[in-house]
Amino acid sequence: MSKLKGRKALTKVVNEFVEQFGVTAKFGKEFQAVPTKNRVDFTLAENEELIKQFMENAEMRFPQVHAHPFIWLLLHEIGHMETIHYFTIEEQWRFINKKKKLYKVLKTDDYALVSEWYQLFPDEYMATLWAGNYMMEHTEEVAKFNKKLNKAIMKFCKKNKITP
Ligand SMILES: [Zn+2]
Repeated sequence: MSKLKGRKALTKVVNEFVEQFGVTAKFGKEFQAVPTKNRVDFTLAENEELIKQFMENAEMRFPQVHAHPFIWLLLHEIGHMETIHYFTIEEQWRFINKKKKLYKVLKTDDYALVSEWYQLFPDEYMATLWAGNYMMEHTEEVAKFNKKLNKAIMKFCKKNKITP
């Protein structure tokens, strides 16, 4: 990862978009919300099977929304922070512990099954709901971000000689 060039430019574009939610974005190894730091991590190397399963669920729930998986995943993580107040601290811990158990029980390559269960957790459900609603209500902003993001990703791929 450290050898990749042009991470700053891409991170800047993402930060300009997430600023409105009072959070920062960091180029990481996976998509994740870091509520204690008011930060979301993003990546261009997320597990493809995970993306596929996530998108199946998201597009089933929001067939009207047509967005790049990157934007869906990013807004889902922001959705976690925007909806965290719906749950008590005890509930949040319960979700974390149950998800950990779920991953231990199921084989890691059994993504379809893991995903089906995963999306049913109230916090996951709410995060995707928030993301979908946001995109339905802010089509122009999302389209603008999509344009800038695509440009930044293309540049990033070119710099690193990756085929997008
Ligand atoms: Zn999530």
